[in-house]
Amino acid sequence: MDLRFTADELAFRDELREFFAANLPQNIRERMRLGHAPSKEDTVTWQRILNRHGWAAYSWPKEYGGPGWTPVQRMIFLEENQLAPAPEVSSFNITMIGPVLIQFGAEEQKQRFLPRAANIDDWWCQGFSEPGAGSDLASLKTAAKLDGDHYIVNGQKIWTSTAHHADWCFCLVRTDPQAPKRQQGISFLLIDMKTSGITVRPIISIDGSHHLNEVFFDHVRVPVSLRVGEENRGWDVAKFLLGHERTGIARLGKSKERVKFARESARDMRANGRPLIEDPAFRHRIAQLETDIKALEITQMRVVSAHDRSHDGKPDPLSSVLKVRGTELLQATTELAMDVGGPLSMPDWAQELAALSNEPELGPEWATEATRSYLFLRAASIYGGTNEIQKNILSKAVLGL
Ligand SMILES: Cc1cc2nc3c(=O)[nH]c(=O)nc-3n(C[C@H](O)[C@H](O)[C@H](O)COP(=O)(O)OP(=O)(O)OC[C@H]3O[C@@H](n4cnc5c(N)ncnc54)[C@H](O)[C@@H]3O)c2cc1C
Repeated sequence: MDLRFTADELAFRDELREFFAANLPQNIRERMRLGHAPSKEDTVTWQRILNRHGWAAYSWPKEYGGPGWTPVQRMIFLEENQLAPAPEVSSFNITMIGPVLIQFGAEEQKQRFLPRAANIDDWWCQGFSEPGAGSDLASLKTAAKLDGDHYIVNGQKIWTSTAHHADWCFCLVRTDPQAPKRQQGISFLLIDMKTSGITVRPIISIDGSHHLNEVFFDHVRVPVSLRVGEENRGWDVAKFLLGHERTGIARLGKSKERVKFARESARDMRANGRPLIEDPAFRHRIAQLETDIKALEITQMRVVSAHDRSHDGKPDPLSSVLKVRGTELLQATTELAMDVGGPLSMPDWAQELAALSNEPELGPEWATEATRSYLFLRAASIYGGTNEIQKNILSKAVLGL
């Protein structure tokens, strides 16, 4: 198997690089480079720039407003976008609800929602997890009872990323509590977040950010026309969506970009009276990370090019390897950036030192952001299906155990 890019793929990569250099707003690029999480506005601005060029819905076929790229081109796009560094397009809009509507949606749902999802006119969130249903998602209890041409929804979701920004939520609900198998009584609904009876409560995570929420449904009326797929067949839709959620989950471009940034920052930081970049232990750590990233890049290329050839469009269970190893590397690279900052990476301490020395700010801005990012990304091995669950998938579907 030839794992090198073809001449066309290299030309495609150059085209992306040129576009990102010319079109990514400088203020957004700089915030991303300093390690800030993109704001809602940053994400919307960038996704709309991409959409004007036909690239935001990067994994969709042409007939639905995507560029019709091959899996290898999509992989190159994701990596170049992360290397830029630019905000990533909304995965809820592009890799989750978009493909679900394309595969299972009624024509009217496709026409109403797909163009708005691509242009992020609607901000989507994912209402799957509940307090008693995470890895064991099929035990979800949020109930939807039929009442004429509406469902009445009651229950609670948790860990709903960016629900406080969202216009719409795609939600798994229980429509048949008596079904012989738990998986058989679930339906997939599109819920307008402005409907009365919905309460969104923030969960502040360890990095101090408001990304996560609890969402409560109290007699929320949802038109039956907003169900995707057949009643009680929502589990098929959910399985399809979860397979797609892992697409691009290795985020190798992000890890590469973080190592590059740590290497550059290490020139300005000092250890034992010398620039940190000259420290042999530090150099060894960078080399190890770069080697590990390269190894995973080759694995990713194998998975993606096998997928390219199979043409069945189904996610490969091997993508679980990319999720496990990719998130381990992402965590290791954000830890590296934090360590480069040393004590200045501790937000409280940096602030106290600044106050003591009467300085408005002590130390580089990126250092405290590195800690926030490190803390937030502890969650990378949990969301999108925990790494333990990915290992279960691998042991069953790949190793046949
Ligand atoms: C930052 C973040 C964002 C998220 N965003 C969303 C979102 O937008 N929408 C949404 O619906 N959900 C979201 N989630 C929820 C996420 O999908 C769940 O946290 C995840 O599925 C794990 O479920 P749980 O938290 O209930 O943990 P549990 O399932 O209770 O697991 C607890 C621990 O037990 C382990 N475990 C469980 N079952 C097994 C098993 N069979 N074998 C081996 N180990 C096992 C797990 O790996 C984990 O370590 C988000 C989570 C985080 C952290």
